Amino acid sequence: MSDTEAPTGDVEAGPSAPAPLKPVYCAICTFPPEYCEFSSSSTKCRAWLSSSHPELAAKIYSDEALTQKLASLTTKQADDLEKEAAKKEKRAEAKAEKDAKALKSQRITLTKMARTKKKATTAVFGLHLFSPPLPALKVISKGLSSRLATGASVSKSTANPGVDEIVVQGDVADEVRDMIISRTKPFDTLPKEEDGGPSDKQIVVEEEKKKKAPAKEGEGGAAAGGADE
Ligand SMILES: [Zn+2]
Repeated sequence: MSDTEAPTGDVEAGPSAPAPLKPVYCAICTFPPEYCEFSSSSTKCRAWLSSSHPELAAKIYSDEALTQKLASLTTKQADDLEKEAAKKEKRAEAKAEKDAKALKSQRITLTKMARTKKKATTAVFGLHLFSPPLPALKVISKGLSSRLATGASVSKSTANPGVDEIVVQGDVADEVRDMIISRTKPFDTLPKEEDGGPSDKQIVVEEEKKKKAPAKEGEGGAAAGGADE
């Protein structure tokens, strides 16, 4: 590479060429960094700026600069920005709370499915809901297979179209449940309950729901099913 004028904007281009200042926008909140403090992520913003544009960070976060900037904003502008930031922060908090609640209501279901009189399978569904640090389903599936000395595979869920589940050969729902609760391999990387992982209440063992049974004889066509109240 013998290029003489690579437009990299490097300082070594010489004193005559003032490096053109590319506007910097915060990678965290997308504001110009001067306004990061009004974003809902100001702490992260500052960390980002410090690591990716240390000089700019030093400039922006010097006491002097902060005082100047505040002085140059009208009270109304400053108020608005602050209000906007407060709103955003509230929204972010609400969302985090909602997500946490949603996770609490998630379930891992272990469905026993009778195949023939002697054969059964167990579908393990819902692991993906707790997925972040959890290895892929295939790894879990393999682990279960060797651990339980039976076949296991990943396939599309029959009960939840479009989502994968693990199907293990045999009626192993209770074993799998215990393994999940005790975070035994291959569930050892599943987050602990206090870190957002499933609690034992969130692991449900159930029988496969049979398709609607054929109409019973003598069914009157009156009110559906359970008349007990
Ligand atoms: Zn920012």
